[in-house]
Amino acid sequence: MSDKAIENVLHENRTFQPSEAYTRTTSITREVYEQKYQQSIENPEAFWGEVAQDLHWFEPYSKVLDWNEPFAQWFVEGKTNLSYNALDRHLEQKGNKTAIIWEGEDGEVRTYTYAELTREVKKFSNVLLNLGVQTGDRVTIYLPMIPEAAFAMLACARIGAVHSVVFGGFSSGALSDRINDAGSKVLITADGGYRRGSAVPLKRNADDAAENTPSLQHILVIKRTGQDVNIKEGRDVWYHEAVQNVSEDHDAVPLDAQHPHFILYTSGSTGKPKGVLHALGGYMVNTYLTTQTVFDLKEDDIYWCTADVGWITGHSYIVYGPLLNGATVLMYEGAPNHPDWGRFWKIIEDHKVTILYTAPTAIRSFMRAGSEYPNSHDLSSLRLLGSVGEPINPEAWIWYYTVIGKEKCPVVDTWWQTETGSIMITTLPGAHTMKPGSAGVPMYGVDAAIVDADGHVLGANEGGFLVVRKPWPSMLRTVYGDDNRYKTQYWGEIPHVYFAGDGARRDQDGYFTIVGRIDDVLNVSGHRLGTMEVESALVSHPAVAEAAVVGRPDPIKGEGIVAFVTLQTGFDATEQELKAHVAKEIGAIARPDDIRFAEALPKTRSGKIMRRLLRQIAAGQEIKGDTSTLEDVSVIEKLQKAPQQ
Ligand code: AMP
Repeated sequence: MSDKAIENVLHENRTFQPSEAYTRTTSITREVYEQKYQQSIENPEAFWGEVAQDLHWFEPYSKVLDWNEPFAQWFVEGKTNLSYNALDRHLEQKGNKTAIIWEGEDGEVRTYTYAELTREVKKFSNVLLNLGVQTGDRVTIYLPMIPEAAFAMLACARIGAVHSVVFGGFSSGALSDRINDAGSKVLITADGGYRRGSAVPLKRNADDAAENTPSLQHILVIKRTGQDVNIKEGRDVWYHEAVQNVSEDHDAVPLDAQHPHFILYTSGSTGKPKGVLHALGGYMVNTYLTTQTVFDLKEDDIYWCTADVGWITGHSYIVYGPLLNGATVLMYEGAPNHPDWGRFWKIIEDHKVTILYTAPTAIRSFMRAGSEYPNSHDLSSLRLLGSVGEPINPEAWIWYYTVIGKEKCPVVDTWWQTETGSIMITTLPGAHTMKPGSAGVPMYGVDAAIVDADGHVLGANEGGFLVVRKPWPSMLRTVYGDDNRYKTQYWGEIPHVYFAGDGARRDQDGYFTIVGRIDDVLNVSGHRLGTMEVESALVSHPAVAEAAVVGRPDPIKGEGIVAFVTLQTGFDATEQELKAHVAKEIGAIARPDDIRFAEALPKTRSGKIMRRLLRQIAAGQEIKGDTSTLEDVSVIEKLQKAPQQ
């Protein structure tokens, strides 16, 4: 890690105010935010202790926080249950309210009220108990985006089994690594799942994975596609058969607030996947509050987060946060471009979605496909838009705000991580001015700062490392089975603070702008440049849909900049033109040495650009390291073969 600051080169000055029509609908004003934020930082225990009182505790906590750096205990000695709080707690008043609206890729729609969902989860819990799953056992979930994925998670939470959800697009190798690391006893999967019209063979992958997983006793199989599968006698159990004879009653188990709630593997940028461990009480309270506040939830909202349950966004903002708040959640099974790029907009029109929470990678794809798709649907039900997963380039932000939000929906650009469990930096929809490309201000209880390598706080607009200086309830508690990795990687890089691994700066108004992962920073003639700014300059050219920049060793400059660019449909641009455009936007120092036009960029399955692989391609090296998280391996082959200019 270099101790030099990251330079601030992109000057984005456009700002947007939440419309008056919007601010009239919310009680969370700037003053309310400021007063609560201050309280949450000055006296976190009082603040979080009060928030937690909205939820049910079988036994009260004796202390809000016990902090023994870097190990935290939140809501010490409290006993609670997340499934109870997300389901049973609502039954009296909201039993008939819709909890989940699910749309399959083939257009099938299923809905579940809170009462129905509770019944499904109780039955699912009993199926797991019959398979011998006990409190504390690990259960791996490898499912498509079907309602049973939420049932399975909530059932684990109900009986105190620790779930590890593995994204349904992962290969059998990635699945078996994760089963083995967690030591899971049961794997929950489906016969298959639909993706762009074809059926993905999940059970076959599960069978391959299970060849080398000594801890695994059972595979519970949900029927989704009806494709042929192998059922191994004694090991495999069909869910629809197992559920037939179970009771519809189940009392949620009172669990200690420190109980491990789930493990979620994150690849990080290098090395072996880390099992990020979240604990029950703190995670529950933090996701409850952030969902309510950041999405400014209303009783009649139809809330749609387009993530997959295999990612943290799916955990916190499809399943747990919204259900803890008694909201109506939309879940969609399939791809955004099936049967065409109008699918999302049709879903919004059909279900009258009010809140849309999606990722910059999707937004850029929609831009590339063309505004005619959203323009041919009625999007007037939308009142709020959210973005998560990567820095959103200002041009993509503006498109989202104008074409999708029709300039009436605030956009919340939420910065957070698998490790943070819930949203950490954002604007609040009615409270804050929006600055495209800048995530915003810290959420309640988040003591974020920009520091140099010695931990000194940097001044306004100075680029540095994003850190969090105080524990927060939904922080990861450890890396599963590896306390040492947790300590060194997160609390050891810079003494006494949580190290997020992102480069960022904070402006004169206290807004944080994330400029990219520290590992991706470019070092050009002694200038350290974040990837986001150079990429955003490229994306601001009308012909460019998406861009990824990486450094390539250069004998004179240290590193030269290589930009990989995909073009908007129907547009063209020359290499010279794009280089000149970047130089004009942010200065000659950031002028790429090389522009490579590509059909697609290599991304993780959650849509993040894998610059690590592009660096190897740019340097003409062989591709090394873990590529199991890559969405489409052929993208790499095509980039390697592409003629160099
Ligand atoms: P993951 O935990 O795998 O979802 O990735 C977390 C990382 O995604 C963060 O460390 C950031 O680099 C990036 N990220 C997520 N949300 C944002 C955002 N709103 N703005 C900028 N970067 C983001």
